[in-house]
Amino acid sequence: MHNILLTGGAGFIGTHLVKRLVKNYPQYRIVNLDLLTYAGNLTNLADVENAPNYVFRKGDIRDQDLIQGLFDEFQFDGVIHLAAESHVDRSISNPLAFVETNILGTLNLLNVAKANWKDTSNKRFYHISTDEVYGSLGETGFFTEETAYDPRSPYSASKAGSDMLVRAYHHTYGLPIVVSNCSNNYGPYQFPEKLIPLMINNIRNNQPLPVYGDGLYTRDWLWVEDHAAAIDLIYHRGKIGETYNIGGNNERRNIDLVHYLCDVMDELLGRSPGTSRQLIHFVKDRPGHDRRYAIDATKLKNELNWEPLVNPEDGLRRTAQWYLEHTDWLEAVTSGAYQKYYESHYQDR
Ligand code: NAD
Repeated sequence: MHNILLTGGAGFIGTHLVKRLVKNYPQYRIVNLDLLTYAGNLTNLADVENAPNYVFRKGDIRDQDLIQGLFDEFQFDGVIHLAAESHVDRSISNPLAFVETNILGTLNLLNVAKANWKDTSNKRFYHISTDEVYGSLGETGFFTEETAYDPRSPYSASKAGSDMLVRAYHHTYGLPIVVSNCSNNYGPYQFPEKLIPLMINNIRNNQPLPVYGDGLYTRDWLWVEDHAAAIDLIYHRGKIGETYNIGGNNERRNIDLVHYLCDVMDELLGRSPGTSRQLIHFVKDRPGHDRRYAIDATKLKNELNWEPLVNPEDGLRRTAQWYLEHTDWLEAVTSGAYQKYYESHYQDR
């Protein structure tokens, strides 16, 4: 049996990846380690929780004894590391939590893997990261795997630190690593503090739609299951020591994206065209806001034959439909502590 330690499997991307691996690889054992912070939700995984090749353990990636205990118990062949603090705005108000989880947590996993994998043949430590480590682009150009790191938020700086540690463990200790840096994901199960589900949820509730600054910030968006497919491919066929950029070739200005979501939601909710656009409300900009991200994913396409399969218009519509069909999920995750965070966060411009 091939045993994989998958961290952060109860989060947004982890949910899709766990489901994919559990269903497609019955010969693997997928051990999902997740601390179940505000961003982790086990109900996402209800349809695989009883699968014979799936195990859930609640715990912290910073806990060395816990990780060593899991290596003793399962003799892992691979680690797929997603657990992180992932929201830029939260990193601005609490950078330490990002350094602790993203840098120290990753370092802890690397140390335990290194100590346990005396023979590194057929072993693999796969670290999942973001395009935000590359900094901000002007009107033109793309991030490639050769682009120099220039992180500009505490979140991206903490991810950059973890990426560099992972690569350093390959160069210094020969740990068999692979890294990928992906653009913004969207789809079902994303916590509604992130742009797309936040807008969908607020449109649904007739609440103001907070758009930062002038709304002209540009991001590349990728359907989350396309990311999970890329991770599956890179885990199995990516070259040891290499980095792969993953992107959707789907750049949008925030305001255009919000307009599109308003129009789709008007249609789905049976509202007159233009109704939801009236909820748009420009708010004080995020400090240090990166202007534009765009990914060149040619290496992944050429070497591993990966391409995004879901067309963005379809993906965004499917996402809006999913949230409308899962209002119980939305209600559950947006109550309590989240509500307080939300109310204190967005200030009028
Ligand atoms: P998420 O915030 O939805 O999920 C993170 C998960 O990690 C949660 O389930 C949380 O409970 C868990 N976690 C947090 N701290 C932990 C700790 N100390 N120990 C164990 N578990 C802990 O994040 P996501 O959007 O699914 O992102 C997953 C990974 O992908 C992250 O590493 C992120 O940097 C990266 N990434 C995300 C995107 C994106 O658009 N969402 C894009 C590129 C890369």
